[in-house]
Amino acid sequence: MTRESTMTWFQKIEISKILKWSTFIIAFLVVLSFLNLFFLVEQQKEYAQLINLSGKQRMLSEKIHSSLYQMQYNPSETNYRELETILYRMQHDYLSLKKSLDKLKFEQKNIYTSGYETSSLRVIYESKALLKYPIDTKVIHEILDHREQILSELNLAVEQLQHKSDELSQETINRGILLLILILVVLGIISILIFYPLLEQLKIKHQKILQLNSELEDTVARRTKRLKKMLDIVNQYVYSTHTDINGVITYTTDAFCELSGYSREELLGKTHSLIEYPDNPSSVFAPLWTTIMSGKTYHGTVKNRHKDGTDYWLESYIVPDLDENGTIVGFRAFRQNITDKMQLKELNEELEKRVAERTVEIERIAVTDALTGLFNRHRFNEELTDALALYKRYQSPIALAIFDIDHFKKVNDTYGHNVGDKVLVTFAALLKQNMRQTDKLARWGGEEFVILFMNTEINGALLAVQNLLNIIRNHLFEEVGVVTCSIGLAALTPSDTPESFLQHADSALYLAKESGRNQVQVFEDR
Ligand code: GH3
Ligand code: MG
Ligand code: MG
Repeated sequence: MTRESTMTWFQKIEISKILKWSTFIIAFLVVLSFLNLFFLVEQQKEYAQLINLSGKQRMLSEKIHSSLYQMQYNPSETNYRELETILYRMQHDYLSLKKSLDKLKFEQKNIYTSGYETSSLRVIYESKALLKYPIDTKVIHEILDHREQILSELNLAVEQLQHKSDELSQETINRGILLLILILVVLGIISILIFYPLLEQLKIKHQKILQLNSELEDTVARRTKRLKKMLDIVNQYVYSTHTDINGVITYTTDAFCELSGYSREELLGKTHSLIEYPDNPSSVFAPLWTTIMSGKTYHGTVKNRHKDGTDYWLESYIVPDLDENGTIVGFRAFRQNITDKMQLKELNEELEKRVAERTVEIERIAVTDALTGLFNRHRFNEELTDALALYKRYQSPIALAIFDIDHFKKVNDTYGHNVGDKVLVTFAALLKQNMRQTDKLARWGGEEFVILFMNTEINGALLAVQNLLNIIRNHLFEEVGVVTCSIGLAALTPSDTPESFLQHADSALYLAKESGRNQVQVFEDR
């Protein structure tokens, strides 16, 4: 069932319509009643006029009466004239009376007035007839006798008129009272018609307001509860502080107290310098203040120091707090703890650094001989290839020497492998110290070493090699004493490949060994 259909007539009624119709009805009644009253008053006025005229007639009749008496005893000219004047006035008034009587349209008029009319006319005509004749006291006497009767009839008629007039005025009053009562009754009905639905509607509206109010209260209570819950969550989990325009802390969440290590009492009233990392560069805060003082939100990373001295990182959003005029009155900071992220970043950077170092080390190891620290055979091959390319382009002379320690097996066998190693290290050092740094030295393998003499003619290389040979043979190796070596030397020729170039030096070495060791042999292409 809809709400509409359950409404009663007084809930549906429109008060304005009732008012409109009521006004119309009252106006109609008032007009009608006033017309009625007006008519009654007009009628009463007519009766008053009649009564007035009748009174006059009676008075004149009495005057005629007394004149006739006088005429009976003193029939003088003066009396005669006076009687004539009275008769004239009486006739004149009678015409007015007649007119007024004609205006009264109701039927009863004859009942009330016929006696009077007849009496009056008789007074007039009989008096007139009397005057036409010489004065006869007998006739006058008769007339006077008759007069008594006429006067009593006239009195009766006047009384009847008076009575009728009284009735009319009573009726006017009654009708006026009736009208008043009628208007009051109509007004009462209208009032009930207006006020009852009005009261009912007001009652319904009041109930509706009460209901809405309680619904509103419920909603407010629910929202307040939710808001409180949210604020609790914010307080518990969001790292937030509010400050005034000078940066003095005015609010902090529990979460931030816990993160910073300071209690609420310790934080409130202080600036953030209490919790900041002391060595933060000024470059961190200059843009921060510029941004927030211009009314914009700052977003950046700030390092802070915990009360226990450990450092933590925050990703901060600082929002200016504006009043209704747009003036900055403070700031609200919301933060995220990114210490783990920053530590991970630092760790990552450290790892990257270490990886880079290790890579360099690995690269070095890949090209270096672990025992002597010289280039290994792999790296030397690269150098050889580069040297050949250089030679092909610039034809700068290049020579290659292979050194092989004589009877090294015996060293190992006699003094042990460790001593053998030491000999190898010392041998390598002696070569390195006594050659040009621009030349390329490498351990070719076992007890064999190679030197690539860059931009060097074969004779120059031979001199350098002989010098080295002498240094080796004159050096006293620890525990072992004298150690000699054999050297094969070859000059690079245009037709050489790295392999053939090495091959030529190796051939020369073989020759040096064959020729008794502890010497240098130069490859000659025969
Ligand atoms: P030759 O005069 O004909 O060159 O005789 P040799 O004994 O020097 O030659 P051989 O090729 O017969 O022996 C080389 C020895 O060098 C064998 C091996 O044990 C030793 N050797 C190779 N590499 C190392 C090393 O790294 N450390 C030590 N201690 N000995 C090594
Ligand atoms: Mg060898
Ligand atoms: Mg050897």
